[in-house]
Amino acid sequence: MTILDNIPFDLDLDQMIIDLRLANRNRHIREFRELADEARALAWPKALYLEQEPTIIADKIVRIAGETFESQVLQINLAQSDKVFPALATCGRELDEWRASKTNILHQFWAKSITDSALEAAVTDFKRKIKKEHKIKFVSIMTPGSLMDWPLPQQEPLFRLFGDGAQRIGVTLNESFLMSPESTISCLAFSSETHFYTCQLCSNFDCRRRQADFDKSLLKTKYRLVTTGPQIGSGYQA
Ligand code: SF4
Repeated sequence: MTILDNIPFDLDLDQMIIDLRLANRNRHIREFRELADEARALAWPKALYLEQEPTIIADKIVRIAGETFESQVLQINLAQSDKVFPALATCGRELDEWRASKTNILHQFWAKSITDSALEAAVTDFKRKIKKEHKIKFVSIMTPGSLMDWPLPQQEPLFRLFGDGAQRIGVTLNESFLMSPESTISCLAFSSETHFYTCQLCSNFDCRRRQADFDKSLLKTKYRLVTTGPQIGSGYQA
């Protein structure tokens, strides 16, 4: 298991001010910059990943290090792969506790966008490391619960693969299969010929976090599914 706890992190404040629609709101910009300074001083994003060999057992069933995963999309994505990388990335408990301490509703919203940026830094870092170590062009990920085809209870076998690694980077999984800190993702990462996004198979057209267009023909031809909307509807996709 590789643990990453020295992840480069900074905030693109000019872009965030645009994304958060704060432009020309000088008081809000000042408050946001103050929050960003607090966050920079505390932020400690972390990640871990393992290298495993997937075995396709049957249609929809993949076994990884003795754990069974059931998903047609996952099985098809791993069909040509001799390696899979179970991975966990988080903004870190330090920043999450800082976010939770905010009482002003606007500050809570801005703080969440900052913890999400720290998570993004952690995801970028583990993907960059995997690409470099294994000379992979595209690293794609799938997260349990992001599609009905791969439901949230599949967090359990995934967390068993992490062993005590989750605890070592400050991540816990509750009985509803949700993780703490909130800005955390668990996933299986794999090499793909082109970048795969779960969003390509998700028909949640209202989602503001969409990263790729819905592709109905991909759903039908490659993945042989009629529909697979989001299971929880707010999955982080990187
Ligand atoms: S980020 Fe949005 S569009 Fe993408 S899979 Fe999740 S819910 Fe669907």
